[in-house]
Amino acid sequence: MPESASVVIVGGGIIGCALAAELVRRGWRDVRVLERVTIGGQASIAYAGLLSIPGSGATSDPLSELGAASLARFPAVVADLRERTGIDVEFRHTGALLLALTLDEEEALRAALPVLRTRDAACCWLDHHELRQLEPAVSPLFRGALLLPFEHQVLSPRLVEAFARAAALGGARIDEGVEVVGFERSGERLTAVHTRTGCLTADQVVITAGAWSGQLTAQLGVPLPVRPLRGQLVRLHAWDARVRHTLYRGDLYLAVKADGTVAVGSTEELAVYDRRPTLEGVQQLTTFAQETVPALNRAVFLEALAGLRPWSADGLPILGRLPHYQNVWIATGHARNGVLLSVVTAELMADLLEGKASALPLEPFDPSRFLS
Ligand SMILES: Cc1cc2nc3c(=O)[nH]c(=O)nc-3n(C[C@H](O)[C@H](O)[C@H](O)COP(=O)(O)OP(=O)(O)OC[C@H]3O[C@@H](n4cnc5c(N)ncnc54)[C@H](O)[C@@H]3O)c2cc1C
Repeated sequence: MPESASVVIVGGGIIGCALAAELVRRGWRDVRVLERVTIGGQASIAYAGLLSIPGSGATSDPLSELGAASLARFPAVVADLRERTGIDVEFRHTGALLLALTLDEEEALRAALPVLRTRDAACCWLDHHELRQLEPAVSPLFRGALLLPFEHQVLSPRLVEAFARAAALGGARIDEGVEVVGFERSGERLTAVHTRTGCLTADQVVITAGAWSGQLTAQLGVPLPVRPLRGQLVRLHAWDARVRHTLYRGDLYLAVKADGTVAVGSTEELAVYDRRPTLEGVQQLTTFAQETVPALNRAVFLEALAGLRPWSADGLPILGRLPHYQNVWIATGHARNGVLLSVVTAELMADLLEGKASALPLEPFDPSRFLS
């Protein structure tokens, strides 16, 4: 007899673990997470743990709104996780500075201010002098910076651990080293999930397999365009580079963690299923770090990491029911924002599984948008 579960979650990254934790919180039983390697083996690379609203919150597009909704839910969720698991995920308010080196960069950043102020009236432009006063360690070459007071961060590996532990304490079973290799269907229902070691029947199946999600949906006859967007990050230890805010210049950032280490990220490299950092990536990040905070020249190099972000063809998450199936769901494509979006994704997916109306508009993220 095959084993059975009410819901099988394929992929134990931050998205799969957050969903499992949310389902058991709502009283679901027989929740099963199948993870090919180790829990959070990908998401934990996101060491920076920035809860940065996509587009820095400057636009009011669906992705920014989703990010803002998730950030708003974080205080309650981290408090609940702490109560359920005893794990402190280092949810901290840091604020962010978007640095400008040239006049063009300054003008582009200032143009975003009116929309940003509708999100937080305290957003403002800091000139060279004000920036030096606020963050003396930042290079004097910068003309100024946009201050975003709403930015927060967490310690991502610990957030994944907290979700996983909350799920397990609530009765979910989490299997590591179990790879899903195939499916059985009957009409519009998926009836069984095959792993390398056995077979499992399930009422509902949710695919949260990150950059590999498209390969799994292709096996179900619904190929979705999800590719790996590799990101590299270096970690430093610095004694004399005190920086309170997260510093951004374009896609690159520098964030001081609660333990005093510095996370410098992150590159963007499409279509690479290879998690090894490269010399070029490390050089780009260390040059950025040295140019932004010159005292980091003396920092100790701790490690270089690389991870594969799940990237959809239009850059938006894919959240909802898999077309042509009644009981298969997908939550992936979170790209640079999976840590931030984990909380709202878990809530929205749990609502969908329970047949409830979604609290937020989900049309822009519907998987069917890729099927013509
Ligand atoms: C360097 C870097 C920095 C980042 N910084 C941030 C940040 O500061 N803030 C932020 O919000 N986001 C950040 N991100 C993005 C974030 O890490 C991702 O969006 C997030 O990890 C995606 O989570 P996931 O659960 O969808 O995918 P993953 O974490 O990749 O998890 C998917 C899991 O599915 C498993 N799997 C795949 N196939 C199978 C199968 N057949 N059977 C069973 N299991 C399978 C994999 O082993 C994997 O563990 C960063 C990413 C990187 C790489």
